[in-house]
This record gives sequence, structure tokens and C-alpha cells, in this order.
Amino acid sequence: IPLKRYAVIGNPIEHSRSPFIHELFARQTGLAITYEKIKAPLDRFETTVREFFAQGGQGLNVTVPFKEEAFALANPNLTPRARLAAAVNTLWMDKGNLHGCNTDGVGLLNDLLRLGHSPKDKEILLIGAGGAARGVVFPLLEAGCARLRIINRSPERALTLHRHLVEQLPDLSPRLSCGSLADAGGPWDMVINATSSSLGQAAPDLPGNLYKPVSLAYDMVYGGQATPFMRQAAEQGAQTVADGLGMLVGQAAASFAIWHDATPDMEAVLTALRQQLRAH
Ligand code: NDP
Repeated sequence: IPLKRYAVIGNPIEHSRSPFIHELFARQTGLAITYEKIKAPLDRFETTVREFFAQGGQGLNVTVPFKEEAFALANPNLTPRARLAAAVNTLWMDKGNLHGCNTDGVGLLNDLLRLGHSPKDKEILLIGAGGAARGVVFPLLEAGCARLRIINRSPERALTLHRHLVEQLPDLSPRLSCGSLADAGGPWDMVINATSSSLGQAAPDLPGNLYKPVSLAYDMVYGGQATPFMRQAAEQGAQTVADGLGMLVGQAAASFAIWHDATPDMEAVLTALRQQLRAH
């Protein structure tokens, strides 16, 4: 029997850890699969996806910069989470139709719970308004946070995201606000960095007084050591600082559950991944 075929598609894709994670999940659950990396040319995402499924592929994870295109491709077969995020990171075929979901938000929520920081009743500052921020805003509100403020280097992008959410769910507006980086407000129970600033070895340009005494600073970026944002947060008094590796494993676990109807053990995979990153 040929092995069932899965992949992550993006550009660039060389550094993706998704094959490592999904292969460990498959081993844990006794499934025989292959999981590869596909680098799609920037102007050939749709063709590459169609070829993958036409050749018997079963499921795709989608990463930068194709999540919006994946959303358009899977429309109208979208989960409510994908619709609210207007971005898709998980694709699969059902009865000849392409379906899409966004598991980034579930991945973050699972990791926050693992860290002992439930978003319920918390005041949360979210930095960034790109694809990653869009994926997590609704799940954080749905999890019962008391207040969510979205700030971004280009404030108009935070405003667009704010408008999109309030249009879809007007009930959210009393808990939601947006602004520029300088207008961060606070102090907050939780500050989540959903920008790619740490990749450029700098923390976002933020004012002080962001952290309450018992607060969590979370950087979605990961890489085996403390990011500039994590270092800045620790200096400014955040009680707990975390990188985004747990979110990465969490979103992968949620995709795995959609494709295989099985729940893998995230903790074991997170430990193995951390060891692998430290070794490099
Ligand atoms: P996008 O390119 O869609 O958005 C980038 C965001 O970062 C924008 O808000 C941009 O602001 C902001 N930004 C970039 N550089 C700076 C800077 N120097 N100072 C302040 N803001 C900055 O990327 P994504 O939203 O898709 O991804 C963001 C990060 O999240 C990536 O690093 C990615 O690796 C990580 N990520 C992690 C996941 C995980 O599982 N752990 C899942 C998904 C993403 P502006 O609008 O002004 O340009």
C-alpha cells in the first residue's frame, strides 16, 4: 500500500520543522505517512496545490506567504475559524472539494494553557496585524479574554483587522481596540508578539510599563534561544516569558487531528524539538 502523503507548502520553506513534528506524531499514533516540504514558486501556489492533490496528496499545511491564497482557494469550504482569520494553514480534500481551516489560534491557546496562563478574564496586548495575528485574535476573544488591544507598526493595518472582526461579530467591539505601537496602553496580563521583528534581531519599538506583576510575554517566533522581545520583556518585569515553539507544535497537532482523527502527545514532541534546536 502506498504511504499517505502530506506536506507543508511555503516560500521559503527550507527551515520548516513541520516534517519533524508530523513524523513524530505519526510514529506515536502508529500511522504510516510521508510528510515533505514543498517550495512553491511565488506565482504558482494554486497550480502546486492542485498538482499535489491530483497526485494523491492527502493534506497540506500552508505557511508564509500563502495563507491568504489558501483561504481563497478553499472558499467556500472553510471552517468558522478560517473565515474569521481570513487565512488558512491547513488544507484537505473531501469528496473532491478542497477544505480549509486555521489552526494557529488553537495552537496558541493550547500553549497558553500549558504555560498556566489561560486567557480567560485577562487583559491582552497583541502586537502585529499580519497573518499570525489574524489567526489568533478570534480564538483569544472566544476563550473569554476581558480586553484585547491590537497594536501595529503600521496602525492602519491594525485598524483594518479591527474593522474586519467587528463587521463579522459586532458583539466583540466593547472588548476590542487598536492603535499604534506607541499607543500600547497597559499594564497588561499578557503581551503577545505576533510580529516578525525578532527574526530581524530586534524587539518591536514599545513604550515601558506594559507588564503587570503576574504577566506573560509570548513571542510567536522561536529558534532555540531567548528572542530580543523575550529579553526586553524579562528586563521590563514580565513574570513568565515564552517563545512560539509550543504554538508551532500545537497548530501541528490540531492539523494532525483534522487529517487523522487522532490526538498526539504534544509535550514529548516539544521536548524533542527543543533538543534538536539546541543542538544546532
Ligand atoms: P506577516 O508578514 O503577515 O506580518 C508581519 C508583522 O510583523 C506585521 O504586523 C509587521 O508590521 C510586523 N513587523 C515586522 N517587522 C517589525 C519590526 N521590526 N517592528 C515592529 N513590527 C514589525 O507575518 P506573519 O504574521 O505571518 O508572521 C509573524 C511572525 O509570527 C513570523 O515571525 C512567524 O514566524 C511567526 N509565526 C509563528 C507561528 C508559530 O506557530 N509559532 C505561527 C505563525 C507565525 P507592519 O504591518 O507594520 O509591516
